[in-house]
Amino acid sequence: MMVNKSNKQEPTIEEISITGIAASPGICIGKAYLVTTEGVDVVKRYSIEKKHLVEETNRFKTAIKKTGDELQSLIKSSKNKFNGHASILETNQALLKDKLFYGRTLETIENERINAEWALKKVTDKLKSMFREMEDPYLKERSGEVTQLAMWVMRNLVGVESINIGKIDKRVILIASELSPAETSQINLEKIKGFITDRGGVVSHTGIIARTLEIPAVLGMGNATKMIQNDDVIVVDGFQGLVIVHPSEQTIIEYEEMNYRYAQFKADIVRDSMCDAQTTDGVNLKIMGNIELPEEVVAVNDNGGDGIGLYRTEFQYMSSLGYPTEDELFDKYKDVVEVMAPKPVTIRTLDINGDKAVAGNQDNIETNPALGLRGIRYCLQRPDIFSNQIRAILRAASFGEVRLLLPMISSCAEIEETKRVLDQAASELEKQGKQYNRDIKIGIMIEVPAAVIMADALADKVDFFSIGTNDLIQYTLAIDRGNREVAHLYHPLHPAVLRMLKKVTQVAKDKGIEIYMCGEMAGELINIPILLGLELDELSMNPQAIPAVKCFVRSLNVGEAKTFLDEVYKQRSAKAVHRLIYERYGDLISQMNITAPVS
Ligand code: PEP
Ligand code: MG
Repeated sequence: MMVNKSNKQEPTIEEISITGIAASPGICIGKAYLVTTEGVDVVKRYSIEKKHLVEETNRFKTAIKKTGDELQSLIKSSKNKFNGHASILETNQALLKDKLFYGRTLETIENERINAEWALKKVTDKLKSMFREMEDPYLKERSGEVTQLAMWVMRNLVGVESINIGKIDKRVILIASELSPAETSQINLEKIKGFITDRGGVVSHTGIIARTLEIPAVLGMGNATKMIQNDDVIVVDGFQGLVIVHPSEQTIIEYEEMNYRYAQFKADIVRDSMCDAQTTDGVNLKIMGNIELPEEVVAVNDNGGDGIGLYRTEFQYMSSLGYPTEDELFDKYKDVVEVMAPKPVTIRTLDINGDKAVAGNQDNIETNPALGLRGIRYCLQRPDIFSNQIRAILRAASFGEVRLLLPMISSCAEIEETKRVLDQAASELEKQGKQYNRDIKIGIMIEVPAAVIMADALADKVDFFSIGTNDLIQYTLAIDRGNREVAHLYHPLHPAVLRMLKKVTQVAKDKGIEIYMCGEMAGELINIPILLGLELDELSMNPQAIPAVKCFVRSLNVGEAKTFLDEVYKQRSAKAVHRLIYERYGDLISQMNITAPVS
């Protein structure tokens, strides 16, 4: 969307604001640097005579080999520079040789007698749409990685030099359709001020990397590469998801001031984030981090996280389009546990839809995956995959405090069955003489309304509950969390959601088990007074959100928050609850969040 802003200083070129997705917070001002796909974006189809088919397949194999070699050298340099990012490149390398990518392209050249470029395009388009159809927004974004990898191979096929981002020699803001893992891993932090992309969202690879590297990013802008020219002066507002092209002097001054205040504020809260989040009446609320990739533990520690409240483990299953081995999983989990020790690490077992888990199997497409063979349902149907993961987790548990978290639980039977898998896994490890720890806490995600209603029965079987508001809101309000059309109805402060939270926390307290929250709701300042009043034991969030939440908690009082809840629960709409919170806590919230609107 494009909005014209008033010209405060009558600039010669009109100032333009373009909105996108706020993927990484922060502000930067600088010159645009376009990363183009010229030379590989238009692909021609032509036939290959039978006698030249071997030459054509060899041409493709050579391009794959060249890409593999380039990847290998990037992996080496990334290991020194960004550590964990190398694992994403390793995933790319696996994909390069995958049957679905490599094998099918060769088959297509041979069977259809067409040129390698066209065969590659055809196979890639199929793979991309397969990923895009996946329900989980995180996995959906992986289609971008397939595109980028294919583009890389295409460059090597057609002999177009790729832009080496690592060689950019001035401070710039990168503009691209989408940045590939290879491109992002070449980034020199001293040169790249910010990212803007046409595609991708908060959970895209670029989004994750931008947040990890703390570079402001606005993604999913649609047409940024067409609207912004090389060397245009632009402002990236990663808080509001805004890009301002040709900013007026006044706009630049305003943003520079905002940047200065943000830097000061961040320095203050990050310094304090190493201390406990203790309320003014002495309650110590644990503030944890959510991670998807092992390397994100660094961000949790740097931002003062009290542990990992949610380690999403889907990435490793999807990224290589195959199932990881027990040892591969163990290595990743052990790394995280060792880095965090003695702080706890909550590993959530595979939460995947039927169609996602069997990415290569087109026969298994569900019409409604959010209500399908997802999470624990899938795992219990695939004991081979499930026990592999469970054994890896039990082994990692001997290196620090590990908690096991089960997604999508809606019945006691699912917990009982999982415990049998755990016992079985432990006895196998025992027989194999491997080091493990069976004595770990077991908890469940509360993200299906049935789990709230059945909470008393479920509580008897587990050590903790962790409320997954992302799904709980989706299922309670019947709002598809990934559907833009109904996004305006998706509201954590909806009275129905608040009633759910009240019920489940009350049951946890009565039953004497711990109650946590790891959905996005836990990291948004506006919700904190309510979560404090409900007396949750832990909140887990995006690592970047930890310092501000800790700071806010320190200014609050649980006694007052509990009284405040009486008023909250009288409200009949999300809007009314929102207003009430701002009347009572608005000043404090705006101090914590320099760009948040006060009403
Ligand atoms: C949730 O549903 O709130 C949650 C944390 O899990 P995910 O976002 O991975 O579904
Ligand atoms: Mg969920």
